Amino acid sequence: MQRSYVIKPELGKSYPFVSHGKGIYLYDKEGNRYIDGCSGAVTASIGHGVEEIAEAMYAQARSVSFAYRSHFSSDAVEELGAKLAEWAPGSLNWSFFVSSGSEATETAQKIAIQYWQEKGYATKNRIISRWMSYHGITMGALSMSGHVLRRKRFVPLLADGPKISPPYPYRRPEGMSLEAYALACANELETAILRIGPEHVAAFIAEPVIGASGGAVVPPDGYFQRIREICDKYQVLFIADEVMTGVGRTGKPFGIDHWGVQPDLMALGKGMSAGYTPMAAAMATDDIIETIARGSGLIMAGHTYSANPQSAAVSLAVLRYVEKHQLVEKAAERGAYLLSRLRELADELPLIGEARGLGMLCGLEFVKDKKTREPFPLAQGVTARIIKRAFEKGLLIYPATGGLDGVAGDAVIIAPPLTITTEEIDELIALLKESIASVEQELRQEALL
Ligand code: PMP
Repeated sequence: MQRSYVIKPELGKSYPFVSHGKGIYLYDKEGNRYIDGCSGAVTASIGHGVEEIAEAMYAQARSVSFAYRSHFSSDAVEELGAKLAEWAPGSLNWSFFVSSGSEATETAQKIAIQYWQEKGYATKNRIISRWMSYHGITMGALSMSGHVLRRKRFVPLLADGPKISPPYPYRRPEGMSLEAYALACANELETAILRIGPEHVAAFIAEPVIGASGGAVVPPDGYFQRIREICDKYQVLFIADEVMTGVGRTGKPFGIDHWGVQPDLMALGKGMSAGYTPMAAAMATDDIIETIARGSGLIMAGHTYSANPQSAAVSLAVLRYVEKHQLVEKAAERGAYLLSRLRELADELPLIGEARGLGMLCGLEFVKDKKTREPFPLAQGVTARIIKRAFEKGLLIYPATGGLDGVAGDAVIIAPPLTITTEEIDELIALLKESIASVEQELRQEALL
């Protein structure tokens, strides 16, 4: 094989070459088939190889692919903006288009800070976030992220923003009710705001369901309602990071819709274009945009590819496809089936401490001892072993480990395309079961279990 000069996730490791995809399946050039059990990075939510998206892509490219946003708007961009305003809750009507989830959360962060500046509160510029969170890899987004492993090398360069505990029901204090736990976790936000002073706090950011740093950790009811109350009390904006949970993934249009809470800003990515093109957005309310319009009138953010017609046309076609095939409803229905099958696995297999999730965003947490919930030491690489074994058997699943560092050890995300059928879910479960059971055996042989 030709020498590679591509910097890959693991240097020195060789990766199979993908050849094509269809539905929930990906194929490599050697003819192996893989179930895309995590939609890549929880991205390919309408499945692979959808013809009508390719057609929309071609049609836009034939007229114009790129026109700079400082020069032109376009039908594709305007229609996408209008479609998202329809989808998003309440007065979240405005979209700032970017190309990745990191850019989306970072743009939301900037808009929040600028909003307070325009209102004359220049010191309101800190963002409070949570441990066990992931908001992106660029420095601003990483500053807000409570993903311990991804932060470690860069800590001295990161902006200083307080982090509070997320609700993590599986590991809540023994004997505490979910209701009391929800309030205790949310009230940490009030404590953090009071410690640094509300005059220094621009916004609070959270993922409605914790993804990459926890493995589909769902908050108890009441948590986000209390967060909203606290934000209102201290004039702090609430940013919902819907990069992973948005556009139907959890069985509602957006994750936060499960609790009927209205964010001030929302970050979207991943499922917004289902992987057919890089596309993401920061969405803001009427109040925020009208305030900035009355002030400087210019949002200080943006990238070369922001609001390019090509990506907008593809994303619009994806949203229309989701609507036409009722994939939000399907995610709710089939996601419930997937979770019930994962819970059966959790009952059977000693390695699984908990199966959890919402809609088609599910997770498994692996433990050394099911009774005490004792985690494996991270160095034993249990998640990596399970992912590798599943890959060998033709199943892709996504790690959600690093964020748990110091709290717990191992978790994965199971989040197939929203189009998956129940038969395909059964096929996924069978491979998952074999993979976990095989790693269990290996750990026993090494006397690690
Ligand atoms: N926010 C959340 C909740 C995410 O899951 C991710 C990606 N895993 C990001 C932000 C960053 O998105 P991207 O990788 O597209 O920059």
